[in-house]
Amino acid sequence: MDASRSDVLILGGGVIGLACAYFLLKSGATVRILEQGNPGCGSSHGNCGTITPSHAPPLAMPGTLGVALRSMLRADAPLYLNPRFDGPRFRWLLGFARHCNWRDFEHAAQARSAILQRSRHVLTELVRNERFDCEFGEEGELYVYRTDKAFHADQRHHADVLDRLGITVERWRGDEVATREPALKPGVAGGLFHPGDARLRPDRYAAELADRVQAMGGVIESGARIDVFGTHQDRIDHVRTTRGVFRGDRVVMALGAWSPLLAKQLGLRLPMQPGKGYSITYSRPALAPRHALVLREPAVCVTTWETGFRLGSTMEFSGYVEGLNRTRLDALRRGAAQGLHVSEGPAVQEEWWGWRPMSVDEVPIIGPSSRWSNLMLATAHGMLGVSMSAATGELVASMLRGGAPSLDPTPYAPARFGV
Ligand SMILES: Cc1cc2nc3c(=O)[nH]c(=O)nc-3n(C[C@H](O)[C@H](O)[C@H](O)COP(=O)(O)OP(=O)(O)OC[C@H]3O[C@@H](n4cnc5c(N)ncnc54)[C@H](O)[C@@H]3O)c2cc1C
Repeated sequence: MDASRSDVLILGGGVIGLACAYFLLKSGATVRILEQGNPGCGSSHGNCGTITPSHAPPLAMPGTLGVALRSMLRADAPLYLNPRFDGPRFRWLLGFARHCNWRDFEHAAQARSAILQRSRHVLTELVRNERFDCEFGEEGELYVYRTDKAFHADQRHHADVLDRLGITVERWRGDEVATREPALKPGVAGGLFHPGDARLRPDRYAAELADRVQAMGGVIESGARIDVFGTHQDRIDHVRTTRGVFRGDRVVMALGAWSPLLAKQLGLRLPMQPGKGYSITYSRPALAPRHALVLREPAVCVTTWETGFRLGSTMEFSGYVEGLNRTRLDALRRGAAQGLHVSEGPAVQEEWWGWRPMSVDEVPIIGPSSRWSNLMLATAHGMLGVSMSAATGELVASMLRGGAPSLDPTPYAPARFGV
């Protein structure tokens, strides 16, 4: 038997690749993950760690494009478009603009809701059954508004949509918010509370998944950067990496924001762009919020764990530009200081940036490639990869192993983009 061959070769060891590996191993397949760094070192590392069916409504709606275009003038805007011209980014933006209408909004919201709700359930079972030590908590998530204008706008474009999708949302008056969340400064206009949301520490979740995958017999090749694909007719025959050549009967591409770069080699044009975000992690302050928070006007997400406290978010379209950006980190700090009595912990543990894998329609791309007979895509989870990870792994395993899918895979099919 060829030691470099497995039933399934998984490209990318983020939460998506790891969750696919876990569910495939459970179904009896042999699995190998190829990861250029260490498992969970990409976008899965320093994100906000919220598990949010509440985020089913997409960003794209009438008006979003105007907000994005105006942001080109403000380098600290929560949603920022870098004005430097770049062909693929420009094409992506045109595609995104086409989705800024209510029909596509509704379609994306339904598709996101289905996988988010399934994943919320499956992820809870996974964390409990496997006793993952990842600071999982189910306190819900609270959106906080300091202006009536923003509060009322989100009633229409957020809360009413969640009502229709069957995702519970509670409307809290300003004084109720103040009573239930003492960490907030006075002057809150209202809140939308999502009791079904949860949170975890994402680096711990990825580490626990990786440990479990290995304990179940999965192989993780860390430090194996994928360089070239070898193809034969309509199949991927092998994958050449910096640590050797590997083969799999089936191949799952779970490369997050890097997916379009490698897919290009296979002649697949994935309509994706990196949506850069930042986070700052502190040791936990004495007066920490009871719930995960989204401070809506500055668009800052605040997550509290026993072991820390994180400010995160911002969405920047600047292509594949690496590194921290002080202007945007400062905007996170300022936004948090507007809303919280204590907006920073005693010690900074980490400043971080990551690339969200953003598809043009804000729906993940999961399913068989229409071009390569042994390739499955599991990518483009955007702002919601941790939240969608468990249901993605479950779905990929059922599609590859022939089980009945627990979720209708149609809305996620790569065929919608001809890939
Ligand atoms: C600031 C911020 C906050 C966020 N908050 C949340 C949140 O609260 N909840 C939520 O659900 N989601 C959140 N997200 C989104 C979430 O982080 C992503 O959707 C998710 O991590 C994507 O997982 P992935 O496995 O697809 O990608 P990644 O974790 O990026 O994994 C892809 C992997 O592929 C590897 N790779 C790339 N190229 C190669 C190569 N050539 N060879 C080998 N390996 C390669 C990379 O090293 C990487 O490990 C947030 C993101 C950001 C940036």
